[in-house]
Amino acid sequence: MATGSIRVCLGLKAFIAAGPRRPASHSASPAHAPRIAPFLLAAFAWGLSPLPVPAIAAPASPDREVSIVFVGDVMVAERPGELITAGIDPFRAFAPLLDAHDLRIGNLECVVATGGDALAKPYTFRADPNVLPVLKRHFDGLSLANNHSGDFGKQAFAEQLDLMRSAGLPGFGGGRNATEAHAPLILERDGLRIALLGYVEFKPRSFEADATRPGVAWSGEDEQVIEDIVAARRDHHADIVIPYLHWGWEEEAQPSPRLRAFARRMIDAGADMVVGGHPHVTQGADVYKGKPIIYSLGNFLFNSFETEATTTGWVLSAQVGPEGVRSWRTHVARLDADGVPWPAGSVASPCGQAGATTVNLCKGSP
Ligand SMILES: [Zn+2]
Repeated sequence: MATGSIRVCLGLKAFIAAGPRRPASHSASPAHAPRIAPFLLAAFAWGLSPLPVPAIAAPASPDREVSIVFVGDVMVAERPGELITAGIDPFRAFAPLLDAHDLRIGNLECVVATGGDALAKPYTFRADPNVLPVLKRHFDGLSLANNHSGDFGKQAFAEQLDLMRSAGLPGFGGGRNATEAHAPLILERDGLRIALLGYVEFKPRSFEADATRPGVAWSGEDEQVIEDIVAARRDHHADIVIPYLHWGWEEEAQPSPRLRAFARRMIDAGADMVVGGHPHVTQGADVYKGKPIIYSLGNFLFNSFETEATTTGWVLSAQVGPEGVRSWRTHVARLDADGVPWPAGSVASPCGQAGATTVNLCKGSP
C-alpha cells in the first residue's frame, strides 16, 4: 500500500538521522539487537533499487503504535452472570471504545468454573463458563491475580485455566505453578511485543501459586516483581512492560505510601506504565520519570455497590510506541444497579502525555 511505503520511508529517515527513540538502557537489551540489521539492509536496498522496501523493514520503525485499553474489576458471577445467561451483554455500552483499541485488558475478579467449594470468606464469586464467549468477544487478556480467583479452591482455579485455554482467552498473573503465574503474557501487535504482568497483594495468600500448585502471583515480595519486570525484557524480548497490580485498601480515595513507593520502583526497573485496581474506587494518577501510574481503575462490571465512589470506574486508554507510552487518558464509567458500566463523558478524569511532569484532566465521550 502506498501510504505504508511512505510511512516506512519516513521511518527510515528518522531512524538513520536520530537512531531508535528507545532509551539507551532499553536498546542495550540483546532482545532488540537483531531488529537493527534488517532495518539497515532495507535502507541499503532502498538506495540502490526503485523496488518498494520489503516488509521486513517494518518492525523497528518508531512509527509503530499500539493502542491498549485497561478496565478495572470485572465480576461476571451474580447479577452480571444472570444478564449474560439471559443473552444481555453487560459490556455493550463500552464495546465501541474497547473495539477501537488493538489490545483490550481487564481484571477477572472471580473464578469461572463449575467445580470446587466456596471457601470460608466474606464474599465468594464463581461464574458459569457461559460467560467465556462474552469475555472473549471483548478482551484479549485478563489478569487472574486478585483476591477472588481462588474463592472455590485450587481445583476450580485449575478448571478455569483449562476453560480459558479452550476459549482462546489468555490470562496472566495466574497459572499452574509459580513459574507460569509470574511469566508475562506477551501480546504482539504491529511489531511491538507488549508484556503484561499481574500481581495481587490482598489476602488470602493461600491463593498464591507455588512450585507445584496452581494459583496467582503475589506481589508482597517486591524483589520477585522487579525480577519479573527485568526478565520480561531480557528473556521474553518485550518492547513494552506493563504490570497490573491488585493492591491498596478498599474504598480509600488516595493510594497509600506503599503503593506510591512500589510503583516508582517498578518504573525504575523498566515498567513503562503501572496500572492498579482492587480498592473498588479510583485512586488518582501520578507521573514518574514521564511514565504514568494509575493507582486504581475501580470497578468496571460489578454489582452490589451503591455509593457514587464505588459505582464510578475508569477505563484507561494508552497509545504506546517502541519507546514507551506516548499518551494516555482515562474515561469515566458509571455502574448501574446491575453493576453494568455506562460511559459518563461529561466527568473529567486523569490524562497525560509522554514525558510530562504533571497529570492533566480530560473529559468527553469515548
Ligand atoms: Zn479485589
